[in-house]
Amino acid sequence: MRNFKQLSPFFLILVLLLSGATRSTEEQKPEGVKLRGTVVCLAEEMHTHYKVALFGNHEHLYGVKTEEGEYYTLLRTSLAEALFVDERLHEKDLIINGRVFPKTQLLEVTRFLSIKDGVVHDLYYYCDTCYIRAVAPGNCDCCQAPVVLIERPLNKDSLIPSP
Ligand SMILES: [Zn+2]
Ligand SMILES: [Zn+2]
Repeated sequence: MRNFKQLSPFFLILVLLLSGATRSTEEQKPEGVKLRGTVVCLAEEMHTHYKVALFGNHEHLYGVKTEEGEYYTLLRTSLAEALFVDERLHEKDLIINGRVFPKTQLLEVTRFLSIKDGVVHDLYYYCDTCYIRAVAPGNCDCCQAPVVLIERPLNKDSLIPSP
């Protein structure tokens, strides 16, 4: 009986440790998200809301502000590059699919679409000479002419080949 009393706290701790370990491995998984919002400069947003002092010529820190007012910091990857360099996209109401990493608000973009007049639109860059799609502005891989931004309703059948 005495031995059992000594053992039981040990078992409790063991159980707690094991459950804690299980929980922490679950937490390590990135979370798939689908957000609706706009691209903003997080530094300017923090300046507006919390009076963070900024340099006038600060380097923009881009992120997403959701409809619910939550902020996510954008990771600069090739699929997100357009959101950093094309300011026309900052005016658009976007649907962004991606992953948010454990214990962060860091957002990796896997796809983005726009909502225009209540209709979901596909957003991409296109060379109409070579019929090549691109994920970011720049010159066409093939003919070196600049690609143009295309925004077209997602539900319409597209004659343009997918990348
Ligand atoms: Zn800024
Ligand atoms: Zn081309």
